[in-house]
Amino acid sequence: MKKAIGRNILIVLCVWVLSACGGLSTNAAGLTPTATAVDTGGAVSSPTAIVSTEMVAPTGTADSTQAVVSTTDTPQAVSSKLAPGHIMAPGTVEPLQLPTLTAQPQAITCTSPAVLTPAETEGPYFKSGSPEQSALGGNLPGAKLTLTGYVLGVDCQPVAHAMLDFWQADASGTYDNTGYTLRGHLFTDASGRFQLETVVPGLYPGRTEHIHVKVQAPGGPLLTTQLFFPKVAQNDTDGIFDSRLLMTVQPAGNNFTATYDFVVALK
Ligand code: FE
Repeated sequence: MKKAIGRNILIVLCVWVLSACGGLSTNAAGLTPTATAVDTGGAVSSPTAIVSTEMVAPTGTADSTQAVVSTTDTPQAVSSKLAPGHIMAPGTVEPLQLPTLTAQPQAITCTSPAVLTPAETEGPYFKSGSPEQSALGGNLPGAKLTLTGYVLGVDCQPVAHAMLDFWQADASGTYDNTGYTLRGHLFTDASGRFQLETVVPGLYPGRTEHIHVKVQAPGGPLLTTQLFFPKVAQNDTDGIFDSRLLMTVQPAGNNFTATYDFVVALK
């Protein structure tokens, strides 16, 4: 009798142990759990890094940036390929699509070694995550401005697929700090040229007319600077103004065209 009771207790214990272990190895659907995703914060630490599902572009996102991100890229190289707001899984291979520009190209005026474009303060109104767009003005009031130019290295060679992230005030001197009006990033084409359609920004207290921009060659450091307009009286009283950042501006009817070539470090 005692042997029978002991055997039953042993059987119950075995069943309980197996049940408990089985509960750890399967989920409610009876499937083996997959590895837990880890958000690496955009940095790729090693080729075997576990990739967060948050880094995979959702289907149907508007971001059409095309780039190749290798799992062996350094974080800096990855960030250069991933413009603000761009989300792409490391290891993703997409065909590189460079923009087709409508403005006529200008000759490059550059003497090697060229001087790096000066940096300027970012100011209080930068917002990360700007959409990829080269036409910012829409139907906003104010004079239209078409800005074109090149991104060059100090050797005066054009830099293809350099990123430029623009933000500016509207014609009344007001920033959109809740949305992305007059904010957008774009890329240079195969010849290192970019084109931005926008409006001439207005003045706001203490500042002359200016356009903010961040520029980055693939794999290079991020340059934060500002562009200025010639013949604006407030240039003389704005402590941030730098004549090396003056665009060449031409009237075009009621609107304007402007050019500026950036010189950036490549690494
Ligand atoms: Fe500003």
